[in-house]
Amino acid sequence: MINVTKPYLPERKKLDKYIDRIYDTVWLTNNGPLVKELTERLKEYLAVKHLLLVSNGTLALQIAYHALEITGKAITTPFSFVATTSSLVWEGIEPIFADIDPETFCLHSGEVEKAVTPDTEAIVPVHVFGGTCDVEAIGKIAIDQGLKTIYDASHAFGVKYKGKGILKYGDAATLSFHATKLYHTIEGGAIIFKNEDDYERAKLLINFGIDGPDSIVGLGINGKMNEFQAAMGLAVLDDIDLIMEKRAEVWNYYEEKLKDHFQLQKRIPGCSNNYAYFPIVFENEETLLKAKGKLNSNGINPRRYFYPSLDSVEYIKGANMKNSRDISRRILCLPFSTYISEEKQQKIIRNLLSV
Ligand SMILES: *Cc1c(COP(=O)(O)O)cnc(C)c1O
Repeated sequence: MINVTKPYLPERKKLDKYIDRIYDTVWLTNNGPLVKELTERLKEYLAVKHLLLVSNGTLALQIAYHALEITGKAITTPFSFVATTSSLVWEGIEPIFADIDPETFCLHSGEVEKAVTPDTEAIVPVHVFGGTCDVEAIGKIAIDQGLKTIYDASHAFGVKYKGKGILKYGDAATLSFHATKLYHTIEGGAIIFKNEDDYERAKLLINFGIDGPDSIVGLGINGKMNEFQAAMGLAVLDDIDLIMEKRAEVWNYYEEKLKDHFQLQKRIPGCSNNYAYFPIVFENEETLLKAKGKLNSNGINPRRYFYPSLDSVEYIKGANMKNSRDISRRILCLPFSTYISEEKQQKIIRNLLSV
């Protein structure tokens, strides 16, 4: 079976080196030494200042909304993993959809501008598949209209825009370190804040609002990353250059063989590739389903990321987003991991092109 993804596992010896430290100190969670070390190393790798590790990428979004005190309406994209929108609904924030650009699959800045009303408080765009949003246009709208911006950067680990880390855009940017993501801590996530005050507030939020042995200063929740998650994170980070090198090879091979046959995601000028996903767009849904059926019957499992378009999900009920619905019906993500061999890629490509 060739699945859409296969989580990266570092060598046991490398992981054990970190886990031995947990056994030595018997410090399992609550901002332990490995979480502190991972925080410092990620700050350096991602070139960011205020980075807070949390237990998963969905909580990262929820904590970010709280820290920035978003309560009303937020403009977001219907073309994403459901957590981008469901986290808003869960927090009592009303998601207002704006349509995507049919080439970059990210929020269209003109559509965002049109969707702004007097009770809009925030914009929650997604750097989908690691392709960056038009951060300059969105940043301008946010300033002009007095809105907060929280980027769901779950797919954008390591992406650079004009040579600088993409995570510096927005009042906050969130990452998911779920096992299926490019970089992972089994489950986990992070929030990168622009302002130190917001970061300090979020630090309290993830620890029940407790700021000392006998002091509770406000409402909070449990959003902490534990030491075993951090151990995996450190071991995977040790291998990150190898991971990126291998993923670039896989990505480039797919591109070379498929670029003349399918629509591929367009990246805005200045946006680097982190080789997170390989989505292809078919001419219509019928050919997609035919190809998917053929791949499935040969033991290959691509996934319809992202389908359905979130504006069509029952409990959300948004206005009909034409581009998002169209792309989500025609897009398929091909199996992609550090473990995939060229031989397997050839098999996938052969099956795709013979439909
Ligand atoms: C994976 C993902 C999330 C959720 O992250 P978890 O760590 O699984 O909670 C949120 N948004 C996007 C775009 C994602 O791909």
